[in-house]
Amino acid sequence: MADIDIRIEGKIGRITLNRPDALNALTYDMAMAVEAALDEWENEARVAMVLIDAAGDKAFCAGGDIQQLYDTASAGDYEYGRRFWRDEYRMNAKLANFPKPFIALMQGFTMGGGVGVSCHGSHRVVCENSQIAMPECGIGLVPDVGGSLLLARAPGRLGEYLGTTGTRMNAGDAIYCGFADYYIPRENWTELTALLVKTGDWTQVDAMAQPAPDSPLASQQSEIDAFFGGETANDILRGMDSSEWCTKAEKAMRRSCPLSVAATIELVHRARALDQIDLVLAQEYRFTHRSASDGDFVEGIRAAIIDKDRNPQWTIPTLEKVTDLKVTQMLMPLGADELKIEEKRMKIGFIGLGNMGGPMARNLVDAGHTVVGFDVAGVTIEGVETATTAALAATDADVVITMLPNGAILRSVADEVIPAMRSGACLVDCSTVDVESARAVSDQANAAGLQAVDAPVSGGIGGAEAGTLTFMAGGTEAAFAVANPLFGIMGQKAVHCGDSGAGQAAKICNNMILGATMIVTCEAFALADKLGLDRQKMFDVASTSSGSSWSMNAYCPAPGVGPTSPSDNDYKPGFAAELMLKDLNLAQQAAEAADAATPLGQHARDMYAAFVENGGMGMDFSAMLPHLSNQKHDT
Ligand code: NAD
Repeated sequence: MADIDIRIEGKIGRITLNRPDALNALTYDMAMAVEAALDEWENEARVAMVLIDAAGDKAFCAGGDIQQLYDTASAGDYEYGRRFWRDEYRMNAKLANFPKPFIALMQGFTMGGGVGVSCHGSHRVVCENSQIAMPECGIGLVPDVGGSLLLARAPGRLGEYLGTTGTRMNAGDAIYCGFADYYIPRENWTELTALLVKTGDWTQVDAMAQPAPDSPLASQQSEIDAFFGGETANDILRGMDSSEWCTKAEKAMRRSCPLSVAATIELVHRARALDQIDLVLAQEYRFTHRSASDGDFVEGIRAAIIDKDRNPQWTIPTLEKVTDLKVTQMLMPLGADELKIEEKRMKIGFIGLGNMGGPMARNLVDAGHTVVGFDVAGVTIEGVETATTAALAATDADVVITMLPNGAILRSVADEVIPAMRSGACLVDCSTVDVESARAVSDQANAAGLQAVDAPVSGGIGGAEAGTLTFMAGGTEAAFAVANPLFGIMGQKAVHCGDSGAGQAAKICNNMILGATMIVTCEAFALADKLGLDRQKMFDVASTSSGSSWSMNAYCPAPGVGPTSPSDNDYKPGFAAELMLKDLNLAQQAAEAADAATPLGQHARDMYAAFVENGGMGMDFSAMLPHLSNQKHDT
């Protein structure tokens, strides 16, 4: 199973972190999948609430996955980390503002990035082994992901104490400090989850809660308030006495990065005044943005995680040497780089700007996304930046969409764009192609660390222009969640049909029905003519009787009858006969590979092949009616 499992179960949207061997550390892709799920479920009527939980006993989520942050930052590339934090913080803000109940089940360690995907929820549940902490100062960062706001809201000066010492909270502490709301023993979580799935009613959480265990931190409140009330970290140190409590607290503060500790005191103070998640995240981002270039982040990770020597050489070696000016410099506004919590605008590569792809790309631009397009025919679309190769259109894109004539072309384009795409990006193929090509391209993308969705469409050129297409999608839940907001722009409906290839399977099965029903609808009109039955009468009966179908009711092949259709426009396509032939061929190819009996589908293919060869090329597929009208019974 993937690192994160996102699905709708009964009445809840459920997110399960699934990297137990890595203590469920949150990768960039996992954070983005959480955001995509929140976007999707915010207005999804089937989802009454969201529940996040995690596999394994040791940890809900021990923090952000810092390996790649370290690799890039230590090579002098600071932009990867900055984007990671920017995008993660936007997700944190969405979670904090999520309009439906958000339940978090937090066993074992919940730290740093793990706090950001849980503790901003509305119903936060802890159990007997829960341990929550914000230990970022230990690696040269500051409490982030909105954690400084949670710290600021903790009673008295607990925020300053927890943020600078990294002290772990047990279940009782977490509730006392405002990082959790409910204590429910772990053995009851399966029952709780089943009840929530069934009812979608958050009061079930209330009903199962038990009295919280004691909070050791609550009993230290008076010391914490007395010694952690200083204006700066150095004020706090100067106020300490020689008691055992102070000695221990000071030792914990001095174990961490001095610059981070000093900045944390300032951040918690600012968060208390701002008291608003997006403003607080912007303050935290000022530090994290500078943490590798001007701070100790790389050295902190090296000492704690990479070399594990626990002997960091901080740029400012002691707290006493950290000046107020240096703290101010780390927290100064970033100008154009300041964090803006706003809707994610995606960078989209679009390959194949033909009859369908052109208007689809245009609709994405109109919705505010940046689209870079490429078409071998040199097509340009207003508002779409033009790249000179498919690989250039795909470089650095969040999503690459392909809208191409067939599977062979899709495979060759995939060979070019997949190596150019950034890790974690999503390849969405909307062309109609064979199931085998769809699965091969999806496998190739997955092997390269990408997500993939096959999402052929129905609705034709009119639907592409009006943004009313229907998407039939195959791929993982996480990949679908990334692509779905774009389907919502280019279309009016998207059905997640299953794993990769399922979208193409749905498309060719649907179009086999369409091809066969169109032929028999045309045959019925041709027969009605010869029986002297008026076409309008025939329509009036069949469109409201058991002979009704989309071909009859919505796309009537008889001119002047039923709603306006290509038959009223001299059978100009619409949906060209040769495209219908292509889809019927794909259906037969799949039927042969799967050993499925489709005699009528096969005959429909043969009839469209004969039609395309005998004058049907370039005509709408409903022009089968005049074609049949000219034939006799035995032909
Ligand atoms: P189209 O021929 O108008 O567009 C295809 C575009 O792909 C062309 O502009 C072509 O130049 C470009 N192209 C070809 N090879 C390329 C390559 N190697 N790199 C970049 N660009 C390349 O076709 P369309 O009508 O837009 O259909 C596209 C897909 O959508 C097809 O798979 C079709 O079956 C499917 N479809 C079409 C309709 C419809 O009504 N037209 C409806 C549903 C699905």
